[in-house]
Amino acid sequence: MTAPLQTLASPHPEPEAQASVRCRACQSQATEVFYRVPNIPTNSVILLCNREDAVGFPRGRMELTLCRRCGFVFNASFEPVLAEYSSRYEEI
Ligand SMILES: [Zn+2]
Repeated sequence: MTAPLQTLASPHPEPEAQASVRCRACQSQATEVFYRVPNIPTNSVILLCNREDAVGFPRGRMELTLCRRCGFVFNASFEPVLAEYSSRYEEI
């Protein structure tokens, strides 16, 4: 027996966010958003040269979503065009 998932989503979610999203791994619609951040920088591992570049960095939405069928967790609002993978990308 597992404890019920604690929902951290806003008590007043945006209407389009309430529609179920298909799991990116198994295509099930048994998904649930459990954490939402409406305005978050689209990358956390790029070293920027100054504050202006950091403040002006592209932002997107994060809607961490759990698939109750297979357990996969993904960002249902991921927008590949906002992701940057370049030589500025800091990864060890
Ligand atoms: Zn799934």
